[in-house]
Amino acid sequence: MLNSILPKIDSQTGSKVHFYPLLRQQQKRSNGQTQFACFFFASVFSVFMLTVSARAQDFVAKFDSVRSVTLEQLATGDVQLVDLTHELNNKSPFWPGDDYQPFELKTIATIEKNGVLSKSFAMPEHFGTHIDAPCHFEQGQPSLEEIKPTDLFAPGVVLDILMAAEADPDYRLTVADVMNWEQANGPIPMRAIVLLKTGWNRFWDSNVRYRNQDLQGKMHFPGFSAEAARWLVKERQIRGVGIDTLSIDHGPSKDFIVHHVINGAGRYGLENVAQLDKLPARNFFLIVAPIKITTGTGGPTRLFAVLPRNK
Ligand SMILES: [Zn+2]
Repeated sequence: MLNSILPKIDSQTGSKVHFYPLLRQQQKRSNGQTQFACFFFASVFSVFMLTVSARAQDFVAKFDSVRSVTLEQLATGDVQLVDLTHELNNKSPFWPGDDYQPFELKTIATIEKNGVLSKSFAMPEHFGTHIDAPCHFEQGQPSLEEIKPTDLFAPGVVLDILMAAEADPDYRLTVADVMNWEQANGPIPMRAIVLLKTGWNRFWDSNVRYRNQDLQGKMHFPGFSAEAARWLVKERQIRGVGIDTLSIDHGPSKDFIVHHVINGAGRYGLENVAQLDKLPARNFFLIVAPIKITTGTGGPTRLFAVLPRNK
C-alpha cells in the first residue's frame, strides 16, 4: 500500500524517492543521510495521507455513499433494499369512511377447473401502503397517471417523533422538530421525500388499535403540522412526504390542512408506510412505484428504500 501510494505523491510533488538505490548508496554517508531523510519524511507524509484518506472515506461512508450505489448493484443485491410496503389482505387496516371496504380477493379461475390460477381484487384507492396524488385534495393538480416519473425517485430522510407520539398520540411534527433534526443530521437534501416515523407501524395488525378511535369515533394518531409541511415545501422543495399511519394529517384532523398544503403545492403523500424502523435518518434513496389509474386520486404503491451495504 505504501509503495503504491508513494510514487503518486512523488509525481505530485516532483521530488524523487528511491527505495532500492538507497541500499546501494549506504557507503556514501552524506548522500545516504539525505536519501534517508527523504525516505523518512515521505513515509511520515504517506502515513498522514493514509490517515486523512481513511477519515475522508469514513465521512463518505457515513454521509454520501448512497450516491455511489449503481443500478448494477441494485440488480445483483450488492446493496441493502428495504421494502417499505405492507402486504394487502382482508385484515389490512383502512380508513373508516362510509364507502371504504376491506381488501377483497376472489379466485376467478383454478388450475383444476380452468388450467390456470387467476384472481380478482377490489379495494379503495386509498388503502394499504399508498400514494395520495396531488389531485386528491386540490383541483387542477395532477392525478395518478400525470405524476412525473422523475418525481418518483428521490433521496429520503426519516424524522423520528416516536417519543413525542408516545406521550401524545395526537402529536404533530413541528418546525422546531425539523430544525433539531437538521442540527443533528445536516440539511434535508433538496427535492427529497420526508418520511415521518411515529411508531404507529406496531399497531398494523389491529384495525381497531391502528385507527385508535374514541367513543365519538374521532381517531387519534400522530401526523405532520401544516407549518412543518409548508416549511418543507418552501425551504427544501420536497417531492413528497410519507408516514406510518393512515394519514399525513393527525388523527383528529377535520380540515386535512396538511393534505391541502402538500397537494396544493403539487406534491404527493405516502401513507401506511412500513418498516421505517429499518432506515437510518438519511443516506438512502427511495423508489416509489404507484399503480397507474387514469384520473386516479391515489393507489396502492410499492415503495423501496435503497441503502449502501454495510462493509
Ligand atoms: Zn390517501
